[in-house]
Amino acid sequence: MDNSRKITLSESEIPTHWYNIVHDMPNKPLPPLNPGTGEPIGPEALMPLFPMELIKQEVSQEKYIEIPDQVRDVYSMWRPTPMFRARNLEKMLDTPAKIYYKFEGVSPSGSHKPNTAVPQAYYNAQEGVKRITTETGAGQWGSALSFACQMFGIECDVHMVRISFDQKPYRKMMMQTWGANVYPSPSERTEAGRQVLAKDPDTPGSLGIAISEAVEGAAMSETTKYSLGSVLNHVLMHQTVIGLESIKQLEKAGADLPDYVFAPFGGGSNFAGISFPFVHLNLTEGKNIQCIASEPTSAPKLTRGVFRYDFGDTVGMTPLIPMYTLGHDFVPAKIHAGGLRYHGAGAIVSQLLADGLIGAEAIDQIESFEAGVMFARAEGIVPAPEANHAIASVIRAANAAKEAGESKTILFNMCGHGNFDMLAYQDYFAGNLEKHEMTQEEVDAAVAKIESPTIDSVKEMLANMG
Ligand SMILES: *Cc1c(COP(=O)(O)O)cnc(C)c1O
Repeated sequence: MDNSRKITLSESEIPTHWYNIVHDMPNKPLPPLNPGTGEPIGPEALMPLFPMELIKQEVSQEKYIEIPDQVRDVYSMWRPTPMFRARNLEKMLDTPAKIYYKFEGVSPSGSHKPNTAVPQAYYNAQEGVKRITTETGAGQWGSALSFACQMFGIECDVHMVRISFDQKPYRKMMMQTWGANVYPSPSERTEAGRQVLAKDPDTPGSLGIAISEAVEGAAMSETTKYSLGSVLNHVLMHQTVIGLESIKQLEKAGADLPDYVFAPFGGGSNFAGISFPFVHLNLTEGKNIQCIASEPTSAPKLTRGVFRYDFGDTVGMTPLIPMYTLGHDFVPAKIHAGGLRYHGAGAIVSQLLADGLIGAEAIDQIESFEAGVMFARAEGIVPAPEANHAIASVIRAANAAKEAGESKTILFNMCGHGNFDMLAYQDYFAGNLEKHEMTQEEVDAAVAKIESPTIDSVKEMLANMG
């Protein structure tokens, strides 16, 4: 038994392949639909927006997809990421549970997001793309993509939600440092932006509007494409380097396979990243590892939403995706974990949840900040507000292990550091955060607005189409 606190791997142990869970899923994710015709969309519909290789990955059922050498080379700037045994936290909780965490905050932009930003920029560069457009809320995704585009000599246009552009300047400056063009959204540069500004010149903006502007920017030019940092199948697959490394690290530490794997959940990418290689062991080797997503009580799509077809964005411009959702025009309360303020979940994680192969629980933001502060005082690292939700789940599980007198092994994903999120901590310490839980009336009203097809009706249509 290895007693070390920090479990590291050498550069040569960076995974050579991403794991594509679709290969092993008993029920494959249902196809996206064209909202106009209600019929499945083919890969060609995505060609104006994404490079061919990413479209292939989006629909692939191959079990492993090779990571290009140039991508592994950029990964080696921070990967393999360290795993830690949270010994101080275990002591503080006086729990018999063993707690391990994988720390993705060592990446240049401070979260897991470069794991997909780097291959996305690489495939775009390979296919001659000169510029990538995207949207960003508080700036985690925009900064990851800005860094990745800089690595491959691509221009990057980031449409940043106006209110964050004004109130959270540090990530904007980070993006500019990596050479990106950052525009407050809505802007005068796009038709979508001009329309919104004509009606409401002082609008704070929204992620939905920013997506419209970024998509419009990509559709305008052959050599400009669009990029998304969560939800899509290829994004989730790129993140599996987290879980693949974790399995090696637990082995190296002489640890048991975990009883629980926790990660915070926005659209599902970092949860998929750490958990899918463990779900793989459940599906192929009969293991019983419980993989549980921690979502906020103010956007509880997994625990209280419905499994329906719905739009990926607020305005209704994307294809319809089979997802656990609270409705695409549901606007979550303004909690500080900005990365978790999203109405839906990716198609793969949604299917796995429907089939009982993963689990979910909801955490309110007060419990999450209590957990995050406790973690910082024990382990030193100040977590991103998103990560605090998973830490709260870990503490619940560790306390349950103590009560039951059982020594459980727990792994969670520390998906990012919180060094740019000090305003959130300030609000927590000042007592300005509220416990926020949706009422059943609010959930019912949000879900009642969904008009798109049900999962069953689409299954029936597909069966009739043969
Ligand atoms: C974007 C983000 C999330 C949420 O997105 P997922 O796709 O669910 O991982 C969570 N944590 C951090 C730090 C993020 O930047």
